[in-house]
Amino acid sequence: MQTANQITKLANGALHVPDHVEIPFIEGDGVGPDIWRASQMVFDAAVEKCFHGTKKVIWKEVLAGEKAFKQVGNWLPDETLQTIKDYRVAIKGPLTTPVGKGVRSINVALRQTLDLYACIRPVRYYPGVPSPFKEPQKVNMVIFRENTEDVYAGLEFAAGTKEAEELRATVERLSGKKVRAESAIGIKPMTSFASKRLIKMAIEHALEHKLPSLTLVHKGNIMKFTEGAFREWGYELAKEEFREKVIFEEELSSSSSNGKLIIKDRIADNMFQQVQLRPDEYSVIATTNLNGDYLSDALAAMVGGLGIAPGGNIGAEGAVFEATHGTAPKYAGQDKVNPGSVILSGKMMFDYLGWTKVGSMIDSALESTIKEKVVTYDLARGMTGAKEVSCSKFAEELIARM
Ligand code: NAP
Repeated sequence: MQTANQITKLANGALHVPDHVEIPFIEGDGVGPDIWRASQMVFDAAVEKCFHGTKKVIWKEVLAGEKAFKQVGNWLPDETLQTIKDYRVAIKGPLTTPVGKGVRSINVALRQTLDLYACIRPVRYYPGVPSPFKEPQKVNMVIFRENTEDVYAGLEFAAGTKEAEELRATVERLSGKKVRAESAIGIKPMTSFASKRLIKMAIEHALEHKLPSLTLVHKGNIMKFTEGAFREWGYELAKEEFREKVIFEEELSSSSSNGKLIIKDRIADNMFQQVQLRPDEYSVIATTNLNGDYLSDALAAMVGGLGIAPGGNIGAEGAVFEATHGTAPKYAGQDKVNPGSVILSGKMMFDYLGWTKVGSMIDSALESTIKEKVVTYDLARGMTGAKEVSCSKFAEELIARM
């Protein structure tokens, strides 16, 4: 049953956010509970300081991961999915996914079931953060990663199984090529539908924020009909729907961009060196699922690591915001790690809700705290003269600077 505190979608597609809005959260595994506690403190303080009680968030815990498994025997209960669907916007800490075992990633399942088709990861430099790069301030990019297809589709068959052998025989028959016996086989489905809607969201973001360029990142020289098609579909969409507002890189030699969005593409391996050598030539990136995963962590490292790398998974019906990093199990329960990733994911969430004042307050408080060298262990280890604080203390220091 719908409550007065739930976000609803209006006939024009916009979200209606009540003043007292109820938002589901998943605490997360490993360092999740530490980070969540610190982040919630920051969110509540920022909302209070911006709206003095006229607006507030009512947090609603939903279960997933180890906590859900312990309490209800299910890693991702249907009730959790249904609640997030009904409430439209949620925020989560990281969840464990064992490598190479039969358990499918809960994160991937959440994104696929709720059709949160775009994973958006902004990457920018906060002054003072230790970086291995000479000019990290030149990094200012937003990655739009396709979230529902590619090798993440979960279509994998273990080596030696009947299914893998059957598939191997079919592939040999259809392709005329030999596939080694006892192969494990994974499938990489990609469609024009999913690629184009992701690229469309990325182009719209670039246009709305008047950003200079959009780069399609792919490995189309090798995987021609999947990654190569992603590139083709991208150019096709740009021509069909945005022709007046964009200019293609090859057209630039004869004219300037004239304030239009430059559309270009790069092969993924080249892109990894491009972003390191000439980061200021890249702004919005639209890419496939696996490329986007790798590129997000690499870019995060350039500006100080995963501790301050936020993300949002966005679809047509709602969004789930989450840190880029995982559960960092070795630090679980130590009140040690950097909560910045979830805090900045919250900033993205407030911007998405239209509470941009809250987002800006959080962002500038985080910036000042870091500038004054009050940081958690991860940033402290590369800074001279830093005051190292715990996860919860960092949140307190941030609130003190709001
Ligand atoms: P990870 O949890 O991201 O941690 C890797 C390293 O990154 C940590 O050891 C730590 O580096 C640094 N780090 C991560 N979070 C940090 C934070 N908040 N503050 C400071 N440093 C931080 O990666 P992993 O160890 O490969 O994965 C662990 C589990 O998380 C796996 O089960 C994986 O599947 C899952 N995972 C979940 C998500 C998600 O929920 N969205 C995403 C990725 C991975 P140092 O050791 O150098 O201090």
